[in-house]
Amino acid sequence: MVRHYFIATMGCQMNEYDSDHVGQLLQHRDFLATEDPKKADLIIINTCAVRAKPEQKAYSLLGRMIVLKKRNPSLIVGIMGCIAQQWGSILLDRFPGLDFVLGTKEIGKLPEILRRLEQGAKVFAADLNRMSTFPAVRSGYFAGRVKSFVTIMEGCNNFCTYCIVPHVRGREVSRPPEEILNETTALVAQGVKEVTLLGQNVNSYRYGRGHGDGFPSLLRRANALDGLLRIRFTTSHPKDLSDELIQCFGELEKLCSHVHLPFQAGSNRILKAMRRGYTREHYIELTEKLRNIRPDIAITSDVMVGFPGETERDFEFTMDLVRRIEFDNLYSFKYSDRAGTRAEKMGPKIPEAEKACRLDALQSLQKAISLNKNRLLVGSTVQVLVEGRSRRENQMTGRTGTNKVANFNCDMNVLGSIINVAVKRCSPNSLWGEVLD
Ligand code: SF4
Repeated sequence: MVRHYFIATMGCQMNEYDSDHVGQLLQHRDFLATEDPKKADLIIINTCAVRAKPEQKAYSLLGRMIVLKKRNPSLIVGIMGCIAQQWGSILLDRFPGLDFVLGTKEIGKLPEILRRLEQGAKVFAADLNRMSTFPAVRSGYFAGRVKSFVTIMEGCNNFCTYCIVPHVRGREVSRPPEEILNETTALVAQGVKEVTLLGQNVNSYRYGRGHGDGFPSLLRRANALDGLLRIRFTTSHPKDLSDELIQCFGELEKLCSHVHLPFQAGSNRILKAMRRGYTREHYIELTEKLRNIRPDIAITSDVMVGFPGETERDFEFTMDLVRRIEFDNLYSFKYSDRAGTRAEKMGPKIPEAEKACRLDALQSLQKAISLNKNRLLVGSTVQVLVEGRSRRENQMTGRTGTNKVANFNCDMNVLGSIINVAVKRCSPNSLWGEVLD
């Protein structure tokens, strides 16, 4: 009998990768994916604990999914991801309709968990002291996809004072390069043209004894893979962005002209309180080196406002850094306390209204910068990897090497190809153009 599963994926690319891992395991057990939770026999919510807002969203979605059991009593509902890891079995008590909780390193146990559920057990698996198992790429699973993620390392050793990640993803562990390259080759064999190498801090990737193989060496080997057109990576930590890695942008033709380099705050006082391990001056120097080596490189970043003790003056340093660097795009958030972190105990806390006001000012500034940057592209030709249909009828969409979304009129024959697009107009977030060839 065919059964259906529904996965809601929240949060970062790590979670998207993990959801694909789950999808491959479930297809192996004859489950088919559905977009409609009402048609599902199994519902899994893959959660994010990085900020308060996604955590509340996850609980509210979980509540709504559990209600579906009234119509379908044999429905199984589970939770995975960072919230599952953080709260473990407490969630089974808090949500009586919840059937299982799957920790971040326990995904490989899902088939066993499903067997135990069939025997009527409630299941909790959240051991951080083990290495994850990684998916063997399942034949046909990625067919029709142009891009995919490949995890190269898990966890983080940095313990930034606001961050829950080291508590829910464990310490840094790098995967063997052969495993990463084999997975990438298997994806390319299914038609994938672009991979994003993933890790909480890819710059500190290192495998093997002594100095081992570092991230630049992995990038060079990935660059040599036949059939792969583009390589991206995320996320980078500024304190570990080495000259050797910056040099890769000058050497490797498949490495896209884009780096996501979170700066988090523009004030050295706040960076120190966050325990980020770099200064604003060092950050500026890194962006200059990157632009020297690849003048067209797009730089995007993460920043938060309202960290405990952030004064108006500190915030002005953040605004100043944004003006100076002129990021292509910025993911900006209000700080929120995360249970068990050091920042949770720091003060004074910034009132919500003040945080909202700072966020608004920051986002308006960035919007104007993003629009200006995109306007500079109007009239030029960009190379776009075609990813699929856009939301607008008859239009296709793709991304430039600099990670900008580009939409254009075209048919499906170009899916997965890199094409030339003449840019005609733009918004802060996307480009529109005409196909040249
Ligand atoms: S580097 Fe800092 S912000 Fe990033 S995952 Fe590690 S602790 Fe969190």
